[in-house]
Amino acid sequence: MNYEGVSVNSEKKERYDEIAARMMEVLSHKGFDTYYAANLAAARDQVLELIPENVSIGLGGSVTLEQMDILSHLRTGKYRLIDRYRDCTPAQHIKYYKEALAADYFLTGANAITSKGEIVCTDCSGNRVAAMIFGPEKVIIVAGVNKMVEDMEAAFRRIKKIAPLNAKRNGHRTPCTLTGKCENCNLPASMCNYTGIIHNGMRFKNRIAVVVIAGEAGF
Ligand code: SF4
Repeated sequence: MNYEGVSVNSEKKERYDEIAARMMEVLSHKGFDTYYAANLAAARDQVLELIPENVSIGLGGSVTLEQMDILSHLRTGKYRLIDRYRDCTPAQHIKYYKEALAADYFLTGANAITSKGEIVCTDCSGNRVAAMIFGPEKVIIVAGVNKMVEDMEAAFRRIKKIAPLNAKRNGHRTPCTLTGKCENCNLPASMCNYTGIIHNGMRFKNRIAVVVIAGEAGF
């Protein structure tokens, strides 16, 4: 992981930079706004620079955002944060998800980005993929170079590999949390109920920005 303060050897850094440059090129070609970040701290600064004060902000579940410690910066009162991480009842949680669909800004990570610039995400509740595709005025996606995969097949392989980790992290009782691999469950708590694919960012110009971290981030 490219945590702030953790040194990355120069050969590795060069490789990360190359992948980040390739990701940015392909994503720009697909109509996404792209921003380079050398590490998690730079990604956090970039995200904060993109968001004006007093706007409403929704959040998608994301280990990358957690690693950036963005939440503490969003909770300062400068923004109207729709804080899904507050302790609340399941019904209130759903209410936050719905509010986030109409937010000014929506921040999230991504599960996979293909070499053709397709952004692929799979959710338990679908709130993240729905907001990424339509609703919030602006969407900011933060992704490390470890999210880049060759094609759609590889994207789905990646998603199945990380879903057990996400299920465990979120306390979902799915069989993959016990075995560490997909057991093709068919449960309400499945992390794999909904998949969204963003093929390009052409429809609404400047709506989706991708901050590419030249390092590994998230699952
Ligand atoms: S389908 Fe179920 S078992 Fe498979 S990875 Fe997703 S949550 Fe885990």
